[in-house]
Amino acid sequence: MSYNKLGALRFIEENDVKFIRLQFCDLLGELKNISITSNQLSKAFDEGVAFDASSITGFTPIEDSELFLFPDPTTLCILPWRPQHGKVARFFCDIKTSEGKTFEGDSRYILKRIIEKAKEKGFVFKVGAECEFFLFKTDAEGNPTLETTDKATYFDIAPLDQGENTRREICLTLEQMGFEIESSHHESALGQHEIDFKYDSVLESADNILSFKTVVKTIAGRNGLHATFMPKPLMNTSGSGMHINMSLFKNGENIFTSKQNGSLPIIAEQFIAGILTHIKEMTAISNPIVNSYKRIASGFEAPRHIAWSYKNRSCLIRVPATMHGHNRIELRSPDSMCNPYLTLALMLAAGLEGIDKQLVLPPALTENAYEMSPSELLCKEINLLPANLNDALLCMKQSEFVKNILGEHLFDSYLAEKTKEWNDYNQTVHQWEIQNYL
Ligand code: GLN
Ligand code: MG
Ligand code: MG
Ligand code: MG
Repeated sequence: MSYNKLGALRFIEENDVKFIRLQFCDLLGELKNISITSNQLSKAFDEGVAFDASSITGFTPIEDSELFLFPDPTTLCILPWRPQHGKVARFFCDIKTSEGKTFEGDSRYILKRIIEKAKEKGFVFKVGAECEFFLFKTDAEGNPTLETTDKATYFDIAPLDQGENTRREICLTLEQMGFEIESSHHESALGQHEIDFKYDSVLESADNILSFKTVVKTIAGRNGLHATFMPKPLMNTSGSGMHINMSLFKNGENIFTSKQNGSLPIIAEQFIAGILTHIKEMTAISNPIVNSYKRIASGFEAPRHIAWSYKNRSCLIRVPATMHGHNRIELRSPDSMCNPYLTLALMLAAGLEGIDKQLVLPPALTENAYEMSPSELLCKEINLLPANLNDALLCMKQSEFVKNILGEHLFDSYLAEKTKEWNDYNQTVHQWEIQNYL
């Protein structure tokens, strides 16, 4: 159900809603909110709600710190885990300056801006995300551990799978929020899970990714577990990715649908070529933390090689089969720690550039990329994703493309924030060094 302002106000009044959470995300994709009482909502629609933007990562300096949240009525949703008498509703918000201008550091706005560009060409970008996560036990104080009672691997069932009840509760909660849950299963590593919800237009999908993560963490917590989307919490086993399934619609039709002979339409090839061209520059956004690169470096179906294929899960981009050919492309590198608005804005922009410039796609890779020697890779001109956050930041720093899409404000604050993070990591003496060198 999608509401306008009046409809939202009426819904709030008729459904015993007492609190309204005005939500947005910071530069790094962390969900933030301020709660107002429901009788303030009408005023919030008209005048916005002020907040201290200098206290939000990547927003504004202290001398210019007033920004305003304007709820987007189409995103109204009741939070099912909060009390049902005096309910809590949330809205995602637009962020404006005191002059009423759009705040350039709002990543949801950056995505909206590129959605508009796509719309001018008649395109609607649709996205489905597969967010993997781990469920760990908590200790007596409620702090997370790295332990699981779970003995299950890919697709296993109880009693090996100890997470089924938590997964069930997560699915039911998401359904109450309007998600269409397609499937859920135990993933490859002990304690690792996946729940897949239906694709949607890209803005809704980005909002959904944030809501999904909140629900998973909340419901896990209620079950005495700790949920983490950290890409590589454990060595020598699978990490958690966030595969992004993408398709492009024109006049209501999916134009990535394969032809009669099963081959991909040229427009999908160009879209893939656009992403392959820019992926290195975008990786600091799609794989934003030091730990992201431990997943990428270690195999376990996480991609390192900048190549595409149909059935081959060792490649960065895969074109999954359906019973009727193909209808989407799957980018396998991102992880759920990313800011989904920025990541998806860049994917769409890169794909559109591929179409605009009619980029030509290299042949599909049929070999297992993990087993190819450096000379074979060289011969096929297959590059690797950045090896660590520092390399990824260097690639981003040189990218006019990323700067253009993110705008100067976001581009500069992201690089500054993440360079700090890298330096902090780099200067830390890790347990591994003590073990091996002391
Ligand atoms: N966990 C793998 C990754 O890191 C994906 C495995 C899968 O979904 N089959 O991307
Ligand atoms: Mg999956
Ligand atoms: Mg999976
Ligand atoms: Mg997948």
